[in-house]
Amino acid sequence: MDCLFCAIVAGEIPSRQVYADEAAYAFLDINPWHRGHTVLVPRRHVTDLLELPEGLGELTPAISATGRLLVERLGAQGLNLLSNAGAVAGQEVFHLHVHLIPRYADRPGMAGLMQRETGIDLDEVHRQIVGA
Ligand code: 5GP
Ligand code: ZN
Repeated sequence: MDCLFCAIVAGEIPSRQVYADEAAYAFLDINPWHRGHTVLVPRRHVTDLLELPEGLGELTPAISATGRLLVERLGAQGLNLLSNAGAVAGQEVFHLHVHLIPRYADRPGMAGLMQRETGIDLDEVHRQIVGA
């Protein structure tokens, strides 16, 4: 199967890892809306949330840990969680993923959620998160 996020989980395509456990893998989004925008995926291939009868259950510990890590390390004041299921909902990569988007006081509110911030240095953000 030709799946971008399966290839990222397998390490065949490089990514900036934020968090990983036995069920999930989280990495910096290549085109962030806000500093530290992270994508979290199940290690196994699932198309979207609607294909997962048990819901996000097995991903919950990783979602929680990744969210707290991002907020603490980046000094964010809040966090948005979002999962797009289906092309009509804006899904572009058809391997279930949750967006974790740290939020900062200088760009608050839902209206600004998806406004891309330019000039984010992903390597610098990654170093700040993983402490390298
Ligand atoms: P969707 O629109 O499917 O909910 O979100 C897919 C996300 O994956 C987008 O925010 C996009 O920037 C991100 N993305 C797409 N290709 C890559 C990639 O090769 N590497 C990383 N790190 N993120 C990607
Ligand atoms: Zn996949």
